[in-house]
Amino acid sequence: SSVVRSLLRKRVPIKVGRMCYSSLQTTKLFIDGKFVESNSSEWLDIHNPATNEVIARVPKATQDEMQAAVDSCSRSYHSWSDTSILARQQIFLRYQQIIKDNIVRGLCIILNQSLSLYLMVSPEVVEHACSITSLMLGETLPSLTKDMDIYTYRLPIGVCAGIAPFNFPAMIPLWMFPMGMVCGNTYLLKPSERVPACTMLLAKMLQDAGVPDGTLNIIHGQHDAVNFICDHPAIKAISFVGSNKAGEYIYERGSKNGKRVQSNMGAKNHGVVMPDANKENTLNQLVGAAFGAAGQRCMALSTAVLVGEARSWLPQLVERAKALRVNAGDQAGVDVGPLISPQAKERVNRLIQSGVDEGAKLLLDGRNVRVVGHENGNFVGPTIISNVTPQMTCYREEIFGPVLLVLEAESLDDAIRLVNSNPYGNGTAIFTTNGATARKYTHEVDVGQIGVNIPIPVPLPMFSFTGSRASFRGDTNFYGKQGIQFYTQIKTVISQWKAEDATVKTPAVSMPTMG
Ligand code: NAD
Repeated sequence: SSVVRSLLRKRVPIKVGRMCYSSLQTTKLFIDGKFVESNSSEWLDIHNPATNEVIARVPKATQDEMQAAVDSCSRSYHSWSDTSILARQQIFLRYQQIIKDNIVRGLCIILNQSLSLYLMVSPEVVEHACSITSLMLGETLPSLTKDMDIYTYRLPIGVCAGIAPFNFPAMIPLWMFPMGMVCGNTYLLKPSERVPACTMLLAKMLQDAGVPDGTLNIIHGQHDAVNFICDHPAIKAISFVGSNKAGEYIYERGSKNGKRVQSNMGAKNHGVVMPDANKENTLNQLVGAAFGAAGQRCMALSTAVLVGEARSWLPQLVERAKALRVNAGDQAGVDVGPLISPQAKERVNRLIQSGVDEGAKLLLDGRNVRVVGHENGNFVGPTIISNVTPQMTCYREEIFGPVLLVLEAESLDDAIRLVNSNPYGNGTAIFTTNGATARKYTHEVDVGQIGVNIPIPVPLPMFSFTGSRASFRGDTNFYGKQGIQFYTQIKTVISQWKAEDATVKTPAVSMPTMG
């Protein structure tokens, strides 16, 4: 009918019986083991950032749908936490293989959604989760006193939740639910509303691996969904990755409601370049780490600190950045893709201009880059701003775009002072051929993750992602030993088994400590 055609033109999904018609693909909810169409009247458009065409839609889940999702997690918790650890391990062993078998399919979906974002799928955390039989070991101390032993169990905590950002649509959700679930928790996930399809694919693969219905539920939305997670009494822990604005809010609201919260947030990562560094290696590493994924990585090296004579390397740095090819992510040979949204492009352009207005020097300006065939995309080309000072807005705010700020330092001590004065503590790198210099830097710099001649030191999952200071809120970090700690609680048992002739014959009013 004409009404239906007009709704389709407006891209409103229409429900007829159990079927839903739409001119666009709609993102489903995943509730109780089923991929279901939302009844919501509020939908968000998902854009291809290289063209800004609308490519799909995602619902803002209704309160009833979110309640159904958390109820499903609560119902399945009892049986899932009681499932043998070997059975859980087997599911995740199958899951890591299914992910590897489907990486190409996954990449196609991500490419459709978020052209040229960093596409690492990272099954490593799932592989690591498969070691749960060792990771979840408790402790024992026999013969604490006569006939008395003490031991601990590591147990799940209940329903856990994850709130993910846009920039690693597969990797970051995989930091969350596999670790939580393999410990015996059930999981409620809210992916980024800008790139939800990849998470849905991960859920389908988990289902194929044999996970019971209701152990993973997925809701979509923005603030209401986040508030729902922070407030719901059944949810015991929240893992968040994203910006400081959202992360601090979620940490405070979730903690106030008695939940554990781990909040990985923004960054301003400095790459300190010593004059004795291997010049060729350093310039290439710096350019790759500043402009790869168009700077949309929390571990991007967005700030170079040139020490002493290394200041003279600036022209070569600019030359290498200039040679990078800007294009849509599905084009061959692309180095720098689009930013996620027109708002992100506007923010990056505004921060570049603020640098100019506040007296910095624009050595390479990517603001007017033109990508033939993608004129409406959110492109900003590689940009380098030198003569930056710590007071400038472009240094104080996270840019999250293909912009490299360059500061100068007289000495290693000056560089360390500069890095330690910046509030963020996510990552940093030093480039040097001198071991003593590297050692001094790694010991004195107050940053959670440090690379020595390595620009993006993201730890593999047998370690933890240890961003610090303003880049992290909480007590235990993501994955590794700390991730297991976050998703488990300890129960301590003290038992005494006395032989018949040693039975206590009168009331024992003292604490049984020694004997
Ligand atoms: P974002 O904070 O805008 O969104 C992250 C999640 O929070 C989304 O699910 C979103 O729906 C929700 N959200 C957004 N604004 C909110 C608000 N005001 N209140 C409550 N919830 C809100 O982040 P993004 O733009 O998707 O991702 C980029 C940011 O994430 C950058 O700051 C980057 O440094 C950071 N990041 C950090 C890490 C890390 O491990 N430290 C990793 C990746 C990205």
